[in-house]
Amino acid sequence: MRTRAPRVRFLDLSRQVEEHRELLQGAIDETLDSGRFVLGEQVDRFEQAFAGYCRARSCIGVASGTDALTIALRAVGVQPGDEVVTVANTCVPTIVGIENAGAVPVLVDADPSSYTIDPSRIEEVLTLRTRAIVPVHFYGQCAGMDPILALAGAHGLKVVEDCAQSHGAEYNGRRAGSMGDAAAFSFYPTKNLGALGDAGAVVTSDPEVDRRARLLRNYGEAERFHHVLRGWNSRLDTLQAALLAAKLPFLDGWNERRRELAARYTAAFAASSVVAPLEIDGSRHVYHLYVVRVDDREAFRARLASLGVDTAVHYPVPVHHQEAYRALAPPGRSLAVSERLAATVVSLPLYPELTDGEVESVIEAALESFQPARA
Ligand SMILES: *Cc1c(COP(=O)(O)O)cnc(C)c1O
Repeated sequence: MRTRAPRVRFLDLSRQVEEHRELLQGAIDETLDSGRFVLGEQVDRFEQAFAGYCRARSCIGVASGTDALTIALRAVGVQPGDEVVTVANTCVPTIVGIENAGAVPVLVDADPSSYTIDPSRIEEVLTLRTRAIVPVHFYGQCAGMDPILALAGAHGLKVVEDCAQSHGAEYNGRRAGSMGDAAAFSFYPTKNLGALGDAGAVVTSDPEVDRRARLLRNYGEAERFHHVLRGWNSRLDTLQAALLAAKLPFLDGWNERRRELAARYTAAFAASSVVAPLEIDGSRHVYHLYVVRVDDREAFRARLASLGVDTAVHYPVPVHHQEAYRALAPPGRSLAVSERLAATVVSLPLYPELTDGEVESVIEAALESFQPARA
């Protein structure tokens, strides 16, 4: 009798902690010894390293990816009441980040092959109040930035990239976070580069955006007790910066491993009825998530679970169908692609520490689950 392989969990963050425990402990000790716990030298150091990684001029550490979006939008000049165009096929934090800036999110449908914003659908939603576009580099793949940047240039709009799922992704040789007027990153623990808690960053190459973002994260304070903008408290913890700086040198290797595992999945699914993710020409996908599409999602997930493989769904309910955000459903405009995606997507386990054996188990179980049940 064949012994059952242990369950393949969707994600196990403890593996990375185990592998790098000494390094992480060192960063924690260094912070304890520094006696500085908010901003400070370790934050400066991480900001410089991460700006370099993104091939941008500066990075401003903040408390979360959601805050990074809000601060980036305000830093590029978005004002309360302005409209900000983004994609319906995103998770709610993108919308929260836009609304926290006082702006009104305007949803555009996704492209059915890249799952990112469909640039050809942006122009029809522009009004005199449109101020910015927030393309989301979804699942680890950059949105179609050339047409988006051309459109923004033609209409005088700002572009803030949502890079929460795309650390290290590239588009025609450019890094995610270096293409727009500013970018927002999240270092939530499950992201490709994750802290041991909440953390985020604004990235920009515009010195004025950098200056404003630094003010906005710290009560708009220019000199001690002199406030020149109305801001927030959204500073990066010293401890999280020290941990992120310690982990950053591994990011490219982790992304390579993600790409290698993704290539194995995609090759294995080529002859099946599963729709594998498409890497667009000129794009370097970093597979924050490996998302396939199947018609009978719940049955497929149940079969995989019975074969010992956990899966997840990112995301089951589109933003405009969420109870809190129904008002964002655009009257008379279709978001059909995003709705169809929400109904059919399934995320398979994919993270750098997943073993080769586990990947084989997932492939075997997935192929078995796609086949019609044998009589
Ligand atoms: C995670 C995420 C965010 C928000 O980041 P937090 O750090 O959790 O606030 C925003 N946008 C996208 C696309 C995300 O995946």
